[in-house]
Amino acid sequence: MAGYTFWFCVGSQDLYGEATLRNVAEHARIMVEDINASSDLPYPLVLKPVLISAAHIHQTFVEASQDPSCAGVITWMHTFSPAKSWIAGLKANTKPLMHLHTQFNEEIPYDEIDMDFMNENQSAHGGREYGHMVTRMGLTRKVVAGHWKNPVVRERVASWMRTAVGIVESGKLRVLRVADNMRNVAVTEGDKVEAQLKFGWEVDAWPVNDLVDAVNAVNQADVKAQVEAYYEQYDIILDGRDKDDFKNHVAVQAQIELGFERFMVEKNYHAIVTHFDDLGGLKQLPGLAIQRLMEKGYGFGAEGDWKTAGMVRLMKLMTRDVKNAKGTSMLEDYTYNLVPGKEGILQAHMLEICPSLAQGKPAIRCQPLSMGSREDPARLVFTSKTGPGVAVSLVDLGTRFRLIIAEVDCKQVEKPMPKLPVATVLWTPQPDFTTGLEAWILAGGAHHTAFSYDLSVEQMMDWAEHMGVEALVIDRHTSLRTFKQEIMLGHAFYR
Ligand code: MN
Repeated sequence: MAGYTFWFCVGSQDLYGEATLRNVAEHARIMVEDINASSDLPYPLVLKPVLISAAHIHQTFVEASQDPSCAGVITWMHTFSPAKSWIAGLKANTKPLMHLHTQFNEEIPYDEIDMDFMNENQSAHGGREYGHMVTRMGLTRKVVAGHWKNPVVRERVASWMRTAVGIVESGKLRVLRVADNMRNVAVTEGDKVEAQLKFGWEVDAWPVNDLVDAVNAVNQADVKAQVEAYYEQYDIILDGRDKDDFKNHVAVQAQIELGFERFMVEKNYHAIVTHFDDLGGLKQLPGLAIQRLMEKGYGFGAEGDWKTAGMVRLMKLMTRDVKNAKGTSMLEDYTYNLVPGKEGILQAHMLEICPSLAQGKPAIRCQPLSMGSREDPARLVFTSKTGPGVAVSLVDLGTRFRLIIAEVDCKQVEKPMPKLPVATVLWTPQPDFTTGLEAWILAGGAHHTAFSYDLSVEQMMDWAEHMGVEALVIDRHTSLRTFKQEIMLGHAFYR
């Protein structure tokens, strides 16, 4: 991923003279230097010269659009900046756009304030002029209001920067389909042409045996080194198996990991799907191998689910270098606990849960699959961290996409599950188990989700808004009565 930057563009005008414009530039410089010197934002701001003419504004947006390292443009109207000057520039803009509605001073300087001060510091005035134009042009932008030193404001700018990276990277995403969708399954299907138009995703199919060739081409010394690395990093649970035979099973996954990754790097893919029923010459369903690839940042969807694979990849990029990150993975709604007061949904999959979610050290186990026709696959087993997270499901409704975004609370399972040889998460949806569940079903949400502890509902909503697709949110504010109305509104608006 490129070392992204965000352009900081300040609007003003020459009505108040050179001295005012010098102050505007100086204020912007102080702000950018202060923000960049802090570690509050994940990407640096690049200060641009103060914008006062339509030609200069247009030129600046054209340059931003052409700069591959620019992931977004943050605009701030320091003084009044007549918004007709912004039309050509905003039309030319292709980058995610933020309107930071702030002002340099935090407090009204009661003893000193005069008309010169007010004319110089009138973002309350100028921000409205600019905001009106962006609204009139129908452009998607993020508005963040408040003083620029306020930690909440900085946190919201930081969160949006991550969303902007998800937007920019979406346009570069390439998903490798090793197999088609699982036969007869509806919700993992979708219109790949429309996905490329809406999200920029290229979704390609490759014969599974082309990947098998890449796996077979990995030399045994590399496989051996990889297995040794696994044995150092993870616990081993033999379950009574012969330890050499166990190690051979693990080596199969090590070879798949290396072969798949080399294939993806060589052909520039960022996400992958597999299907347990279409494995060609693979000896095992990729389990540990896929878990490792997800941990490295690749997207994954099971049973041919390329929509989930794409979302997992983007959410991994959006959470890159988050301090104390707790993890991001594909998950699947598997089974319920319906005991009153202890309700929850057990999230798991046959094998493929990203170990970034793990609480403590994962362990390798090797157990039969209850389906498919290959040898027992090695996989990482763990329980996951607790706390809030966001789960999303991208579904294709036939004429359009919908992103369902749910706020969930991950909890400790009440008791260990020694006979369950897969990684798990237990969560309760917001606003409560029943409402969250019924809303998800009404929204047409899938059993596969892309999940992260490190992203918010707001970030995923902003991503969907920029993509021009419907977002249905199930969170602490959801009531079924208004949720049904939102579904009806979506049908009318997004037809
Ligand atoms: Mn599945």
